[in-house]
Amino acid sequence: MKKLMRNVALFAGLLALVGCAEKVAEKPAVDAKAKEVVKESGGHGWWCDDHGVVEDECSVCQDKVYKKLKPDEICPKHTDRAKSQCFICNPELRVKNAAIYKAKYGKEPPEPSDNLPEAKDKK
Ligand SMILES: [Zn+2]
Ligand SMILES: [Zn+2]
Repeated sequence: MKKLMRNVALFAGLLALVGCAEKVAEKPAVDAKAKEVVKESGGHGWWCDDHGVVEDECSVCQDKVYKKLKPDEICPKHTDRAKSQCFICNPELRVKNAAIYKAKYGKEPPEPSDNLPEAKDKK
């Protein structure tokens, strides 16, 4: 009888060990860091490729920038962005912002994918 009790205890100990090993195996902490690096090199660092402005000042991407806007600073037609960053309504703003990019990189910025007048308006 005593021997049986000891075997049960051993078995329980073994189970606990297996449980621990499984917990160590699953640790996705590294993935978060890897994604950070991809984001940095993916063009979404200093410049916002989508909206053609400095990323830190992009009212569409940066919640903190958008929240600071006064109601009359938001574009009435495109309410997800600042009037002063809406190239759809004010194409000349694109030229102004492109100059900032040019001063840093010496070339034209990539065409903003989400901040241009509708293509059908072009001739
Ligand atoms: Zn943006
Ligand atoms: Zn607009």
